Parts: sequence; C-alpha cells; structure tokens
Amino acid sequence: MESINFEQLNLNPRILRAVKEMGFEEPSPIQAKAIPFVMEGKDIIGQAQTGTGKTAAFGIPVLERIDPSDKHLQALILCPTRELAIQVADEIRSLAKFMHGIKVLPVYGGQNIVNQIRSLKSHVQIVVGTPGRVMDHMRRHTLKFEHLKMMILDEADEMLDMGFRDDIESILEQTPEERQTVLFSATMPGPIRQIARRYQNNATTVRVIKKELTVPKISQYYYEVKERNKTEVLTRLLDMYAPKLSLVFCNTKKGVDRLIGDLKGRGYFADGIHGDMNQAQRDRVMNRFRNGRIDILVATDVAARGIDVDDVEAVFNYDLPQDIEYYVHRIGRTGRAGREGRSFTFIVGKEIYKLKEIERHCKTRVKRRKVPSIDDIESILADKTLDQVADTIRQTDLSHYISILEKKLEDEEYTSLDIAAALLKMTVKPMERDDVEDIPEKMYDTTFANTGAKDRGMARLFINIGKKQKVRPGDILGAIAGETNLPGKLVGSIDMFDKFTFVEVPMEHAKNVIQAMKNANIKGKSIHIEPANAN
Ligand code: AMP
Repeated sequence: MESINFEQLNLNPRILRAVKEMGFEEPSPIQAKAIPFVMEGKDIIGQAQTGTGKTAAFGIPVLERIDPSDKHLQALILCPTRELAIQVADEIRSLAKFMHGIKVLPVYGGQNIVNQIRSLKSHVQIVVGTPGRVMDHMRRHTLKFEHLKMMILDEADEMLDMGFRDDIESILEQTPEERQTVLFSATMPGPIRQIARRYQNNATTVRVIKKELTVPKISQYYYEVKERNKTEVLTRLLDMYAPKLSLVFCNTKKGVDRLIGDLKGRGYFADGIHGDMNQAQRDRVMNRFRNGRIDILVATDVAARGIDVDDVEAVFNYDLPQDIEYYVHRIGRTGRAGREGRSFTFIVGKEIYKLKEIERHCKTRVKRRKVPSIDDIESILADKTLDQVADTIRQTDLSHYISILEKKLEDEEYTSLDIAAALLKMTVKPMERDDVEDIPEKMYDTTFANTGAKDRGMARLFINIGKKQKVRPGDILGAIAGETNLPGKLVGSIDMFDKFTFVEVPMEHAKNVIQAMKNANIKGKSIHIEPANAN
C-alpha cells in the first residue's frame, strides 16, 4: 500500500500538532489525495463516504487557506443534517485547537435563530450549516458572503436527496464567483455532476480507486457493541478463544495507548506499537510478541505494516478500519501458511453499513455473533480448567496434595466438592467483569427478503405514484422521514417511473415504514405502499 505521512503534506505546524494530538497517524487515502489539491486552491469533486476521513480532507485545507486575522466569513460548509453540521464543526475545531483567532459555528434549523444571529456577529470565519437555515440567514443578511473564499458541499448526494437542490443553487449563486468550490459526495448521480459542471471551475475528481481485493479464507465474525464496551468484549473473546497470539487494530495512536493500559490493568500480557515509537522500541515489543512474552499486540495500521509474524491466530478490528483495503490487510495477518485463522470485528451503530460495503466489495461474508455472556465465558473456562485437571491427575503424582486435603477434610468443615468448586471459581473468575447489554440483532423480517432490493439488508417498496403526478424523489424521502422518523440517510435508492416509484429502506424498518405511510399523503395525494414483488 502506497502511503504518505502528514509531514509530507507541508501543513501549518499548528495543524500538524492538532492532527498528532487527535491521534491520526497518517492521512487516510482520501486525505492523501484531496488535501494537496484543496490546499492549492483547486476545485475538486471528492468521492468518499462517511468514515473515510473526508471531514479532515476538506477541514485541514480550509484551515490552511483562511486568514485568522481576517474576521469575515471566509468558508461556508453545507451539510445535509444538523448532526453532521455539529460533527463537522467539532472536527474542525479540534483541528484548529492550536491556531489562534479561528471561529467555527454550526448553524442549523431548530436552533434559536436570535442566538445564532448573535453568534454570527462575533467574527465567525467558518460556518457549517444546513442549506435551509443558511438560506434563512442569507435572506436576513445575517450571513454575508463578500469575503467568502471557499464553499464546501459535504454529502452533496444526501443534500439533493433531501430536496435541497434549489437552496444549494441559490446559495452558490450568491457567493463570489472566484470562490473555491469543493464537493464531496458518496455517489455521483447526474444532478451532482450538473452542479459540478455549473458551479465548479475545472474540478478534478478525487477518489480512492478500489483494487480487486482477495480476502484470505479465514472465519470472519462481527459483534455489535457499544463503544464503551469494546474492551470488555475483547477480553471475553480473548478468554473464550484463548488465541496463542492476537493482533488488535485501533485506528489511532491514542486508541492503542489507551487499550494497552486497559488490557494490562486487567492482567493481560499485552503491548503495542505505533508510529510515535522509534525502531528500537518497536523491535523490542515485536521480539516480546514473537517469543510469546506477550500474546496480544495492539497496533495501528501504519505500525503493523512492516511486521511479519506467522502464527497470529486471531485478528481483532477493535475499530472498524477507515478503508476497505486496510480491512483486507489486517485480517490477512492471520491464517497464514495454511493455519486456521479468525477475525473479529467490532461494529458500533451505523458502521454496520460500512461493513456491508466491505462484504460487497470483497465478495466475502462476515458472520454476526452474539457477544458471549459472562456465564458462557465461565463455563468455557471451567471446561478448559477441568481438562487440565484431568491431565494433571493422569500425569502427575498428587499424593502430597492429597494428604494436605485429607487433613482439611478431617475437620469436616468442608466437603471435597466445596474445595474443588472454590478452586474452580478462583481460576475461572480471576477478575471483575463489566456488564454488557446485548444489542439484539435487527430482525430481518423474511416478508421483505424477496423484494428485489439492490442492496443487502434493504427492502424494496412499491408506491403507486410517480413522475406523472409531479412527485420528486425528495418528496418521497421527505414523506418517509416525516412519517417515520427514519433518518433520510438510511433510505436507499429511489427509482421513479411515470406512475409508480420504488424505494429501498432497511429491512428492519420496512414494516414500520409501510404502517406509517399507509395513511400518508404525498403532494396532496393519498398513496398505497407495499413490498415490491421481485418476480
Ligand atoms: P469522517 O469520514 O470524516 O466522518 O471521519 C471518520 C472518523 O475518522 C472521525 O472520527 C475522524 O476523526 C477519524 N479520522 C479522520 N482522519 C483520520 C486519520 N488520518 N487517521 C485516523 N482517524 C482519522
């Protein structure tokens, strides 16, 4: 894998310092490609999804290009949702931590506009906003664009799906023509390309080309977990499978350090490597791993690149990797030389969609597993201990210990069963464990298994209105989001025909969507909705 480091991007040292503090070890592939162009002031079309590091891909160059001593609005970032606006503003603030005089403000609907206007007056240079609310401020002249240098459209396809196209175009029309326009979108449908053609200047398309990837033949599992439970789940799996050597991947150096501390604290023989360590330090850790003094190695992708250990029995994706290619490289560390290998991937919330993309792209299958309960672990550990007990009885002379126990039993305070049970408990329960609530599997209702959806896990629904009734995809999306509270992001493709429309929604929500939409009106017309018939 070809890679560059942040130093090679010639960043402002203050930004570089923030990037290091955030624990980013090297630019993600989309960052490595996009940052140099955007820093030069060029327009780009970046094709990237959430989770690829796209926010910093435009956030870093925005900070590089704005002038902290100029107190006017210099960069405007449009995002589809309030959550994303807040998240993007937070990430840019973190990146600007060591710069002085930079103000970033998220503005979105639902927030008190008077307060927003007051905040906007305090010399904000970067605004991250949803299109509707930005329009509102534009009309009230509380957002002024005379000094605007950069305009970023984040998740452009999502904004168009939500019916923001007119707003986006009005905003673009009002901003200085010589501005730099950066567009990020996960997909590139026609309307996005039209916007790019109309409002960008010689834009370069930047995307990470996905190579054909071959996934090694190993057993791959995933577990749905909460972020705070990851360490507990990891230790349960380590206890249950007892791999001889395990490799655990985190996305940041900070993550590596934190996890090593937690594992050592719980009595595991773990250590880690990351890019802040010099070669001698890394070699020392690697030697300890190879000769079994530690059996758990925690690493970032970068640090793990050079290592070569043959008998890794399990790879853990403690954090889901940012890039599909990383996933393949990571799990390829196990199952070498014909040995059996396993990989365990932790999934938090919506990362499940990214995992599905990995499965699709690599034509592989990652099976869901339930987090083992404390009882499961204890009975496995008890079985293992009792096997060892049987070996000891068979292979060694126990007369000395038998005589100690006979003396104890003479007191008749305990039975031999009491003593055996206590010894078993002491071996299988050496530490306190945290409670982990199980996250139940989203029910994939089989009613929706055969609707001909393009994407796995989605149900295709039929609605009896279409283009002839002057309905647009945004109306359908708006109706679903409005009636069901299903975030627009989760609605899949919408195919419109003259008299009907197909829309894809996640299977687990399909029943609710149908129920809620039964009595809905779209553009004043009552509709009928049902599972599509794939045949
Ligand atoms: P995004 O795709 O922008 O939503 O980013 C996904 C997550 O990756 C965020 O939590 C970022 O803080 C994090 N991130 C961004 N760039 C990097 C990097 N180069 N290395 C590690 N993590 C990163």
